[in-house]
Amino acid sequence: MPELPEIEALAQFLRDHAVGAVVGRVDVAALSAVKTFDPPVTALSGRDVTGAGRWGKFLGMDCGGLWLITHLSRGGWLRWVDEPNPLPPKPGGKSPLALRVHFFTPEGATPAIDLTEAGTKKRLAVYVVEDPLVVPGIARLGPDALALTEDEFDALLKSTSQRIKTAIVDQTLIAGIGNAYSDEILHTAKISPFANTRTMSAEKVSRLYTAMRTVLLDAVDRSVGQDAARLKGEKRSGMRVHARTGQACPVCGDTVREVSYAERSFQYCATCQTDGKVLADRRMSRLLK
Ligand SMILES: [Zn+2]
Repeated sequence: MPELPEIEALAQFLRDHAVGAVVGRVDVAALSAVKTFDPPVTALSGRDVTGAGRWGKFLGMDCGGLWLITHLSRGGWLRWVDEPNPLPPKPGGKSPLALRVHFFTPEGATPAIDLTEAGTKKRLAVYVVEDPLVVPGIARLGPDALALTEDEFDALLKSTSQRIKTAIVDQTLIAGIGNAYSDEILHTAKISPFANTRTMSAEKVSRLYTAMRTVLLDAVDRSVGQDAARLKGEKRSGMRVHARTGQACPVCGDTVREVSYAERSFQYCATCQTDGKVLADRRMSRLLK
């Protein structure tokens, strides 16, 4: 799932590539992805692209005061297509395409962006709105992870009592961080994913705040300027523990471990983060019974 750094890079990509173009036809291939009906997606056609923005993990393209907003969710992605198929896609087909926006550029080219979604769970969402804040997921967002001061971050953590891993991916508390970067932030800060937000020492909160900024800003630096098609690989290659179960921790050499839930899992290094303690993993203990 794209998180703050990838969405920031996609917003920059749209500013570099789409701003100045005129929106052509909008093809809807997956009707269920479109969450608003008034104004209709066809209202975008003929408008100039004037900007792009990000709210947490939401991406928006400003078409002269009418916004096309998307939440890519777990399997969604944005692709830039230089020479799109001029024929409208067949609705309900097996293609991962959810929405295609055609453009006319000032240079006379006719590229498009494709919003695609892999996998069977269709969660990619598209909204056409005049005010981004009417999108419920955006209205509910907490402050952006990169906009927080250390004092504000500390106050947010103290306002709740839960596992830090759960808290920092809660978009209503802090916007922008998902499963992958939270693993990396906690590993960099050398803090257990199960540490409690309220009882965490001031020194740990400070370490966590610094790690959050370092990990996210490094990833933004690596991602911005990359081709949209390359962002996924860039994200994966920068990871030290996330999705690296069984591999060696690049800091201490211990084996990266995993805690799994029904639908997802997260990774950590016991030596770096939990004083060597192996965290309970419900799936593993069930298998071992
Ligand atoms: Zn380690």
